[in-house]
Amino acid sequence: MRLVLVLGDQLSSGLSALLKADKDKDVVVMAEVADEASYVPHHPKKIAFTFAAMRKFAQVLRADGWTVAYTKLDDPENSGSITGELIRRAAEFDAAGVVYTEPGEWRLIEALGDMPLKTHSLPDTRFIATHQDFDDWAEGRKQLRMEYFYRDMRRKTGLLMDGDKPEGGKWNYDHDNRKPAPDQVDFGGPMQFTPDETVSEVLTLVGDRFADNFGDLEPFWFATDTGQARQHLAHWLKGGLPKFGDFQDAMLNDNRFLYHAIVGLYINAGLLDPLEVCQKAEDAYREGHAPLNAVEGFIRQIIGWREYVRGIYFREGPDYVTRNALGHDRKLPAMYWGGETKMNCIAKSVGQTKQEAYAHHIQRLMVTGNFALLAGIAPAEVHEWYLAVYADAYEWVEAPNVIGMSQFADNGIIASKPYISSGNYIHKMSDYCGSCAYRVQDKTGDNACPFNVLYWHFLDRHRARFEGNPRMGNMYRVWDRMDDARKETVLKEAGDFLDRMDAGQHV
Ligand SMILES: Cc1cc2nc3c(=O)[nH]c(=O)nc-3n(C[C@H](O)[C@H](O)[C@H](O)COP(=O)(O)OP(=O)(O)OC[C@H]3O[C@@H](n4cnc5c(N)ncnc54)[C@H](O)[C@@H]3O)c2cc1C
Ligand code: SF4
Repeated sequence: MRLVLVLGDQLSSGLSALLKADKDKDVVVMAEVADEASYVPHHPKKIAFTFAAMRKFAQVLRADGWTVAYTKLDDPENSGSITGELIRRAAEFDAAGVVYTEPGEWRLIEALGDMPLKTHSLPDTRFIATHQDFDDWAEGRKQLRMEYFYRDMRRKTGLLMDGDKPEGGKWNYDHDNRKPAPDQVDFGGPMQFTPDETVSEVLTLVGDRFADNFGDLEPFWFATDTGQARQHLAHWLKGGLPKFGDFQDAMLNDNRFLYHAIVGLYINAGLLDPLEVCQKAEDAYREGHAPLNAVEGFIRQIIGWREYVRGIYFREGPDYVTRNALGHDRKLPAMYWGGETKMNCIAKSVGQTKQEAYAHHIQRLMVTGNFALLAGIAPAEVHEWYLAVYADAYEWVEAPNVIGMSQFADNGIIASKPYISSGNYIHKMSDYCGSCAYRVQDKTGDNACPFNVLYWHFLDRHRARFEGNPRMGNMYRVWDRMDDARKETVLKEAGDFLDRMDAGQHV
């Protein structure tokens, strides 16, 4: 007999390791281990979600006839690591080896490969593109533009295709999306679930063991099994999808979710299948329930961005997370861990992250990510923060988004220019600035929005790197037209702000 490893983000009945194993002979190993729960200080909601979903998936497997050797976090024999548990279970069951589906993180891939047991690693077939598909596409290209990769994924899946042409005649309807924040949101947000017995038991465990981690454990309302996740999805397809595209980039003080799907955590853990999610979104379009701009935008995020960033993670290798092309070395300020700040956009984005283990893409990219990049925070610290605080964060998807897209630390593999902006963009897309202690209209002075001065500080200190970038020439021309005294004031105020922040002052 062999052991079949099922990790916390592999909770899918169609997992390649399960399909390959023999239900009558083999033993499934699942383990809640301290190593995985604490190698970064994960948000308590994220830990509770993972353990609860694992326990429920083990129940499903048992009901389906599998033998499951499940280790709870507080079991006295728990060795504390995945490899330790496999070695212990191999001795217990006299197993001939271990079969597993490739993990989504180099750290675990290497640890499993180094085990003193016979192992058999299988590809993770829950993704649309194999590693080979991505490498074949990337080979010989000067720039790895997501848009072209996405078109291949449309052709491969047949999603939103009209024969060999894209539905509606265009591949991408983004110009119809990205409207500023609406006055009213006519969707009540994600479906929320009352904790059942399994979830409640996990909440007690996590409350005891991870009380010091950043983040509120309760109220806990995530779906924790496939049935609930499907209910959640159906609820969103009906109420949220039709306006998903329009307000994808908008941010509001009093609405954390707007029209977002909140499906990342369910897809990444394996509770929802990405293709099934996209097919249901396409059905909504074909039935006339949601417009093409919304459905195409949503499907692009999943078969485009999600697959593309995974391809980059595996192509670039284990050192990707340590890259720091811009040489940034500032420490992550306390405001990221809930410390007080006068910047309302940061306070709101971090505050909802603490409560929900969730912020949407633009809050991650253009508020917390933008600020970290402008301020020159060390990308490794930024990466660890994102990996810790979001319920959907696993390294294969988080690292390319943070190291590449948000911090430009991979030197432009993902982003053709840094995602930076002054306060203007945040003002246009949100209602944050109206209730901020800083004034977004002020370019300098005591009350000036810090993003306004830090923006020029960034461009000035990285002039040699970005001046020649054709997409950034205009910005440098505006900077060069400013008179010297004004430039000096901007740079001094930005430097003073960073000094005050580093000294732990309330900025
Ligand atoms: C700095 C930064 C860090 C991020 N970290 C993560 C992370 O740890 N885990 C994660 O799943 N996503 C991450 N993203 C991508 C994106 O922000 C989240 O997938 C999204 O906010 C999840 O919320 P949702 O399910 O409501 O998504 P929606 O906005 O409703 O989008 C639908 C789905 O599309 C997929 N998707 C959208 N954008 C991306 C993207 N850039 N990369 C990969 N998939 C995408 C996700 O599966 C998402 O659930 C990050 C983005 C940035 C800028
Ligand atoms: S004024 Fe500046 S700091 Fe304040 S909310 Fe607007 S962008 Fe953020």
